[in-house]
Amino acid sequence: MDESSFILGVDLDGVVGDFYGAMRRIAAEWLQRPEAALTTEVSYGLEEWGIAEYGGYDRLHRFAVTQRNLFRDMKPLKDAPAVLRKLSNRGIRIRIITHRLFLKHSHKTSITQTVDWLDTYDIPYWDICFMNDKGAVGAHVYIDDAPANIIQLRAHGCKTIVFTNSTNRQLPGPRANSWQDVEHLVKESMEEWATGTLNLFGAAGFRSFDSLF
Ligand SMILES: [Mg+2]
Repeated sequence: MDESSFILGVDLDGVVGDFYGAMRRIAAEWLQRPEAALTTEVSYGLEEWGIAEYGGYDRLHRFAVTQRNLFRDMKPLKDAPAVLRKLSNRGIRIRIITHRLFLKHSHKTSITQTVDWLDTYDIPYWDICFMNDKGAVGAHVYIDDAPANIIQLRAHGCKTIVFTNSTNRQLPGPRANSWQDVEHLVKESMEEWATGTLNLFGAAGFRSFDSLF
């Protein structure tokens, strides 16, 4: 990994972009139900909205991306673009890591909408990786909201900040409830990295380096 600058690995959906808010509006239309009838307390996969009998998550997601421009039209979460600009301005290298290509046959749409969206909100980034195995992409600290990603990253020894939403409340910290929290935690980690004391394994990581092998 490039050790000349501090790298922040940033997930998009549910961290920078208001994925669950956008999906709730689109799902209400798709299900032909009032938006208020869909709980905001969802788990990963949105099963609480009863989408299974209409074709399930993949079908709704495909509709959202290909027919409602989900990745172009979702709103950023509060303060996310501004804090990312501040962090970038401090010399932190923003590395976007997203699994948005899990939808087959719509890669061009997914990538185009994503890049347009990042430009629209002036979100800085050095690199953008469309990856499932996020741990394979080097970063000094990651921020993600999906429980499976967080557990996998931590299992591989990657310091990972949980960005709070209804899908991940059961996970241990470090945790950010806002982008102000992200700013604070990332600055703290960067200072640890600069002084060589960064705890790579985070709160839920390995007890000793030996257990990695
Ligand atoms: Mg996410």
